Amino acid sequence: MGALSLLVLGSCTRSNETAMNPLLQEFETPFGVPPFDKIETEHYMPAFKEAMKRHNEEIEAITSNTEAPTFENTVAAFDYSGETLDRVSNVFYNLRSADTNDEMQEIAKELVPLLSEHRSNINLDPDLFARIKTVWDQRESLDLTREQEMLLDKIYKRFVRGGANLDEEDQANLRKIDEELSMLSLQFGENLLNETNNFKLVIKDSANLAGLPESVIAGAADAAKEAGEEGNWVFTLHKPSWIPFLQYSEKRDLREKIYKAMYNRGNNENENDNKAIVEKMVKLRTERSGLLGYANHADYMLEDRMAKEPQNVYDLLMKLWDPALSKAKEEAAMMQEMIDREGGDFELASWDWWYYAEKIRKEKYDLDEEETRPYFSLDDVREGVFYVLEKLYGVTFEPNDEIPLYHEDAMAFEVKDKDGSHQGVLYMDFHPRASKRAGAWSTSYRKQHVRDGENITTVGSIVCNFSKPTGDKPALLSFDETLTFFHEMGHAIHGLLSDCTYPGISGTSVPRDFVELPSQIMENWGAHPDVLKVYAMHYETGEPIPDELIEKIDAAGKFNQGFATVEYLAASVLDMDYHTLEQVRELDVNEFEERSMDRIGLIDAIIPRYRSTYFSHIFSGGYSAGYYSYIWAEVLDKDAFKAFEETSLFNPELASKFREHILSSGGTDDPMEMYLRFRGQEPDPDALLEARGLN
Ligand SMILES: [Zn+2]
Repeated sequence: MGALSLLVLGSCTRSNETAMNPLLQEFETPFGVPPFDKIETEHYMPAFKEAMKRHNEEIEAITSNTEAPTFENTVAAFDYSGETLDRVSNVFYNLRSADTNDEMQEIAKELVPLLSEHRSNINLDPDLFARIKTVWDQRESLDLTREQEMLLDKIYKRFVRGGANLDEEDQANLRKIDEELSMLSLQFGENLLNETNNFKLVIKDSANLAGLPESVIAGAADAAKEAGEEGNWVFTLHKPSWIPFLQYSEKRDLREKIYKAMYNRGNNENENDNKAIVEKMVKLRTERSGLLGYANHADYMLEDRMAKEPQNVYDLLMKLWDPALSKAKEEAAMMQEMIDREGGDFELASWDWWYYAEKIRKEKYDLDEEETRPYFSLDDVREGVFYVLEKLYGVTFEPNDEIPLYHEDAMAFEVKDKDGSHQGVLYMDFHPRASKRAGAWSTSYRKQHVRDGENITTVGSIVCNFSKPTGDKPALLSFDETLTFFHEMGHAIHGLLSDCTYPGISGTSVPRDFVELPSQIMENWGAHPDVLKVYAMHYETGEPIPDELIEKIDAAGKFNQGFATVEYLAASVLDMDYHTLEQVRELDVNEFEERSMDRIGLIDAIIPRYRSTYFSHIFSGGYSAGYYSYIWAEVLDKDAFKAFEETSLFNPELASKFREHILSSGGTDDPMEMYLRFRGQEPDPDALLEARGLN
């Protein structure tokens, strides 16, 4: 009896607490969006704790089920579990990026160990894995739909890739390697930060500022003040400092000094040297993939990507390499000619490239941003994006004042399909503020899926840091910002048009080398002359953007693309070379890098965009064997857009195929299969070469 009354009391307290916490209630709002007007910071922590508890109960219901494991009672049940936790996490982490405060930052820190323990308890639950494995072993005879097969495959592999199939000893080894790797990657990042911060180019004689624009000099004077060098000028190894110095400084010896300091970060034989860390990380990753049954780390990383295996990545990189390198050589020759013409008695070096590129740009492709901005008022660009999406897919966006907002600067739209039916909700939040992190991104508060026969629609959001209105002028965007808007709306529409059953593979839950196709393809419409003529109107006169300006924008976009492509591809090859090693005993990082670059014939005047000791994407971010994916996605978007260009810009038949096979399909099939269904052929890299002016 005592136990029973305790239980009743327990659940009573719990329901009182949860009854007051809006994050734990049904959202009684239009379309079930989060009730932002009711959520207070103190609601988060209790909501997270309760949500984890509910999640554990759901997992326990799966593992304690006395019925034999089936797709429904195990795989689907697992995918639907944790809904409350997703809901709370989405609100918290989206707002921590878009509208944070000190308390939220503190909560985020407290949450790290709690959530990581919660996740690893589930990932290492042997009963749960045993049930999933039983379903997996029977998959051939279960008569699953393609979507169910994909979900089962994704979930099963996630466990296996985390070591679920290993014996206890190997599991312990794997955990040790993982711990060591995360320590090393942390150390790599710290060393790099120290190396970046430790160097300063201090200029005391104003003659050494020759060539630098006023704004750059003013920035350097501010940096000097901060560094306790008042009255002098300081340049650092942060990009906004060294890049303009390299572009404009007439002092060749100083350009050399700062550029060498930049590209030797982590390679200075001091306490911040990253060579031994790179060696250890490559060794451990190779060991780890061997333990899990893969030939090398790249095989392991690419298994669930569109590229599937390293050879496919190399094939693509090398297809682009030759045309890019020959273009870069032409660009170098042009610069050498300029050097000779000016009587410079030297050969173009890597620290000269930015300087001469800037001079040539000025001479031939001078595009003044202030000239284009008046044609890209925020309202016009938004109308342009809506125009493109309505023309292609028939969707419309209606402002809705009933929907609660998390910040007064945000806006909410109801998205409707061509027959007027509700398709989802989208927030837009455009301008910088202190509580928002930098950059632009697309995210969601709720992903489309079907639960108990009911279709749950997407609640998405795009968050940007676009130029603000000034004085009596509306917000006027740069051309870059304009394309960013189209890009993020591509991600948003990928989520909004999703038509899948299971949340784990719906919407944008697709491989990293595929997820940028829907976003990047939108930029092509945004930059197309016929579309520009529709939306890019002068904010005062209403005149459409003139042809000369469109041509200038296009030419400027193709400028220096040999260099940009070569430095990017070189870094991608370096990444793949490290991670396709199958056995590593000793690794001399500088020698390895040199051999790697010699093999592809990189010229001396260009270095890889990232050299090994400061390649943080692959040694302290999540991009190992994945740096290639930016250009992989660009091959897809250029090839896909070409299908429209070759027929008509808004070809309805193609648009409906793109919607059906790409945008609505989420991760319900193999990305290459989906692409083939849309395009009828494999992607051809020629379209990218053409777009970058490399053919
Ligand atoms: Zn993107």
